[in-house]
Amino acid sequence: MSKNLLEKQIEKIRETYPESEFLERLFAQINDSYEDFEKVQKLKDRSIRMMSQEMLDLYKTAQKKNEAFIATILGTIVDGIITCDTYGRIVAVNSSAEHILGRKEKNLLENDMSNVLADFDSFNEFIEQYDKVEDQNEIEVFLSGKKQPRIPCEISVSKFEIDEVSYIVIFRDITERKKQEAAIIEEKEKAEKASQAKAEFLSTMSHEIRTPMNSIVGITNILIGDETDPEKLKLLDTLKFSSEHLLVLINDILDFSKIEAGKVEFENIDFNLKRTVRNIVEACKFKGDEKNIEVKFDWDEKLSNHVKGDPSRLAQILTNLIGNAVKFTEKGSVTTKVTLLEEKEVSNVIRFEVIDTGIGIQKEKQSMIFESFSQTDSYTTRKYGGTGLGLAITKRLIELQHSKVQLESEYGKGSNFFFDLEMDKSLEKTNEQEERGVDPSLLDEKQLAGLSILLVEDNPLNQFVANKFLDKWKCDVEVAENGFQAIEQIEKKEFDIVLMDLQMPEKNGFEATAEIRSSGQAYKDIPIIALTASAFMEEKNRALEAGMNDFISKPFNPKELHEKISKNIIVN
Ligand code: ADP
Repeated sequence: MSKNLLEKQIEKIRETYPESEFLERLFAQINDSYEDFEKVQKLKDRSIRMMSQEMLDLYKTAQKKNEAFIATILGTIVDGIITCDTYGRIVAVNSSAEHILGRKEKNLLENDMSNVLADFDSFNEFIEQYDKVEDQNEIEVFLSGKKQPRIPCEISVSKFEIDEVSYIVIFRDITERKKQEAAIIEEKEKAEKASQAKAEFLSTMSHEIRTPMNSIVGITNILIGDETDPEKLKLLDTLKFSSEHLLVLINDILDFSKIEAGKVEFENIDFNLKRTVRNIVEACKFKGDEKNIEVKFDWDEKLSNHVKGDPSRLAQILTNLIGNAVKFTEKGSVTTKVTLLEEKEVSNVIRFEVIDTGIGIQKEKQSMIFESFSQTDSYTTRKYGGTGLGLAITKRLIELQHSKVQLESEYGKGSNFFFDLEMDKSLEKTNEQEERGVDPSLLDEKQLAGLSILLVEDNPLNQFVANKFLDKWKCDVEVAENGFQAIEQIEKKEFDIVLMDLQMPEKNGFEATAEIRSSGQAYKDIPIIALTASAFMEEKNRALEAGMNDFISKPFNPKELHEKISKNIIVN
């Protein structure tokens, strides 16, 4: 109650009870107490005011410290930080943001985030996209700088509602990292281009080298067939061995460069595994006989003869392993063993082993020999020749089929190279003739007599070699030197089969075949066998795609030429 009101009340009581001594004393006491109360009240108000001021001062000091602390952090942090409201209007920026964007604080505060985000029309559009991203740690955007209109940055956004601030946008300049990444990609592309150029160069060279080699091997074969003088035969054998060896080297280098360039393709076709492996072993017997080494084939009868896979790659692997085994064995035997390891529903796991009783390999050298260009020692190189590429190729070819080549060897006693392949079961039926290894469709040489053959080949030496064999089988051969001539001749005469070289001037073998197949003439289905000096699988596929029926690689093996002609005449 105020003093005024109190005095008015006392006056009213005085009017009702005038001249009461008791009341007057009471009034005097009330008046004293009230004055005391007022004094206390004033004191209290003053101390409250003082305390509030002190607290306010304390609070202000603390706030200043806090702000200074935050300002120091924001000023020293390398990441750019921008705070903005819900609409993207910029509220504050740190010095790194100014530095990264090359824009002054004033300029940024006058703008909103859509002006900073290079690829977004509004801040909301950006937030919408941002919220959709699952891993928000690595979001990359372009921000607009003063000098650089598109600065690559890593960005992260947090929602934060105090006063007018709604978002804190933190970003880091990744220009340098992007430059490094681009440089790495460029280097990789350059390396790929270089390796592509290398592969193309090797492919061209292989053609150039294999063509004369074809003539050398072919003519040597012819001379060996006609020669009776044992002295000369010995010389011719050496010539044959050297030229074949040279071909192996060329093929090794080509294959290796192809594998390096990641250009190997695997087929998955039905084939007779037993016959394929037996043929490879047979082909190596000749070398074994020369050294008086037994070359054996051990087939697990639990295995079905037919499988699905890539017979040419398997042949390449086994030829290499058996070839090495024969090469590094002076006495005893080389056994190629094929065993069923595990039978599954649609596939079989098959183990292939090449076991020899040769020189063996020391423990410490066993892993080294699978590296490219490595041999156990320089003595090996001098004594046995070779490039040291064979096993590196074999290892990669096996690895590309999800397996691993393994080796058990005892120095001085022999070696066992083995690997397991999971091969799909084939649905094809085996017939008895096949099991005995006789190809039912193969004509004997006498049946080839009188066949009319068009040989399309531009190289006179190759014409000579092919003609020699075909003449021997008494075939009736006509020669065309390019695709144009071939078509002209086919139009005039009915041939039984065409042997078509692929690389020829004017019109190549692919073009000529495509034209024959699409001619609509009676000769359109004539069997055509491609002849090529290229070792590459792609060339074979290209030939088949152009409409050819089969493929023989040069230098021809007379047996293969005979086999392919018989097969294609019968089928067609
Ligand atoms: P190359 O036979 O052309 O020298 P490889 O890569 O096929 O190259 O073999 C590498 C080396 O491994 C050979 O030089 C030889 O020292 C060793 N080697 C390979 N196979 C055998 C084997 N069956 N017995 C003994 N040594 C072998």
